[in-house]
Amino acid sequence: MTAYRAARRHALKMLAGVVIGVVFIIAVDAWIGHSSIAFAIVIFGLFMANIGILGFNCPNCGSNLFFRGPLMLPWPNKTCSRCGTDLTKEAWRGG
Ligand SMILES: [Zn+2]
Repeated sequence: MTAYRAARRHALKMLAGVVIGVVFIIAVDAWIGHSSIAFAIVIFGLFMANIGILGFNCPNCGSNLFFRGPLMLPWPNKTCSRCGTDLTKEAWRGG
């Protein structure tokens, strides 16, 4: 698996998590009424799931695939923003 594909898989998992979270909040809202606890659970769950994002680094320079300079985006780089390595061809060595 390449670094880009591994990171993209994480991005898709997070996207699914966000969708499930929104559905969960809407469902709780409809059944019980407005609940900030449901909201807090979803935010906390997504935050915990997203910690894995820190493991997706460029195999060449260690720059994170989800960062473009100081900006963090929900989708990984195909080319390293720091050293220009083609991440669709570099093997991912894990976190
Ligand atoms: Zn790099």
